Amino acid sequence: MEPKIVALTGAGISAESGIPTFRGKDGLWKRFKPEELATPEAFFRNPKLVWEWYDYRRQLIAKAEPNEGHRILARMEREFPNFYLITQNVDGLHQRAGSRKVIELHGNIWKVRCTECGKEDYDYRVPLPEIPPRCDACGGLLRPGVVWFGESLPPDALMKAEKLARDADVFLVVGTSGVVYPAAELPYIAKEFGATVIEVNPEQTPISRIADIRVPKKASEGLREVYEFLRERYGSSGQG
Ligand code: NAD
Ligand code: ZN
Repeated sequence: MEPKIVALTGAGISAESGIPTFRGKDGLWKRFKPEELATPEAFFRNPKLVWEWYDYRRQLIAKAEPNEGHRILARMEREFPNFYLITQNVDGLHQRAGSRKVIELHGNIWKVRCTECGKEDYDYRVPLPEIPPRCDACGGLLRPGVVWFGESLPPDALMKAEKLARDADVFLVVGTSGVVYPAAELPYIAKEFGATVIEVNPEQTPISRIADIRVPKKASEGLREVYEFLRERYGSSGQG
């Protein structure tokens, strides 16, 4: 039987690509905290300010490249037939590194959605020519296609993620602070249903307590070790 290996990633896996995490020393933008900007209230109070922040992040992401950590996860997908990736990131770097089976829990920063008619599109222009951007179908205000604090996750993505957590033999948690729910619940579900929980994070998190294996390293280095460990534990067909 092929092992089911499930990885959950957070902002920390993209840190080595130069994309700031939310929690951490680089988390401030123009004195505003992400928690004060990534909410529907902030957006409807001041769409221009919130869009300027997203436009700034989109510019950083457009310039960034996937790093070794992203690439190792893409390699795991090629090597283990039952490997799945769940991400809280909105930057699309996993897909750019070659991962195909990616569940995006918090949407994607390149997506825009009309607050009036609901039309969704991808818009890869950086910087955006007009801020805030408007819907080409109805002229309504567009919002970023991401999940904000206080909003529900896409139900389909969340259901799939929960099922993967229940069925996992190995649940790998990389670069997440483990405080944003419901994503932070997934490692607990996996643990309860018998998975080996492995955490890669230079810092302790609430998840550290339940981790069977803790790798207190940056994603690239930590994942190299985990990759070797999985190959030893489950054998390898020598591909990838
Ligand atoms: P977070 O900012 O709350 O926590 C980041 C975690 O990464 C911390 O625990 C930190 O110790 C760890 N970390 C820092 N550098 C690391 C490295 N090199 N290797 C491994 N770990 C490292 O991030 P979160 O838990 O993902 O939650 C924040 C929310 O913010 C998410 O919902 C996500 O959607 C969003 N976000 C996304 C991006 C992105 O797409 N790149 C960036 C920032 C925030
Ligand atoms: Zn519209």
